[in-house]
Amino acid sequence: MIQKFGYADTELVKTKFPNEDILVRPKAIIECYQEIPCNPCETSCPFNAIMIGSDINHQPVIDYNLCTGCGACVYSCPGLAIMVAQLKQDRAYFKVPYELLPVPKKGDIWHAINRQGEVLCDAKIESVLQNSKTDRTVVITASVPKQYLFDFITVRNKV
Ligand code: SF4
Ligand code: SF4
Repeated sequence: MIQKFGYADTELVKTKFPNEDILVRPKAIIECYQEIPCNPCETSCPFNAIMIGSDINHQPVIDYNLCTGCGACVYSCPGLAIMVAQLKQDRAYFKVPYELLPVPKKGDIWHAINRQGEVLCDAKIESVLQNSKTDRTVVITASVPKQYLFDFITVRNKV
């Protein structure tokens, strides 16, 4: 699917998620599906939770025992291939990289978008992080109903 249409289908996406009981705490979801010479995710993680190893072409592997969900890898990945996911009661919370304008504000309601670019539902913007560390990549925390855990990928302005 990813070679044919350019996006991962739900079955492939699920292989990148830990069990739901692990997602009671925020954890990085790394959707890096191909072997490429790249490793900022590994070098940016302050907790050594991401391993690529001596061959920079290897795909990253995450240790969920070490990941704190801090989000450093989210704004460090040049491929925008990492988000942080967490489940709280009936909602799923995501930290996602965002590099478009306008930037949403905390409290806004935007569209939640799936990997095909389709509108899923409303997304509540929970917080917006932008500072010298994140450079020009904004990290948006958005929440959607839990049923969209494997579908949500980003947000889009409603206007
Ligand atoms: S979210 Fe933080 S702790 Fe987890 S893998 Fe990314 S950088 Fe490491
Ligand atoms: S930084 Fe991003 S694109 Fe590069 S290897 Fe890590 S997850 Fe893949």
